[in-house]
Amino acid sequence: MDPEKLYDIVYLQGLCPQCGGPVKELDKDTSSGRDIRLYHCGKCEWSDSIDVGIALWKALSSEKDS
Ligand SMILES: [Zn+2]
Repeated sequence: MDPEKLYDIVYLQGLCPQCGGPVKELDKDTSSGRDIRLYHCGKCEWSDSIDVGIALWKALSSEKDS
């Protein structure tokens, strides 16, 4: 599945792309400057990390630079 679709279904709608069940956010990693979140579905055991955009701290610091 393409990342944009995953972003929409999982991040915006909070649904599992495989079974349509609710997903849970397990982890969040912004150390790379991107906001990467790990999602997991308890129903079908689907799990993936989704890049949801630039991390907040990165967005704020680049705003300061310009
Ligand atoms: Zn599922």
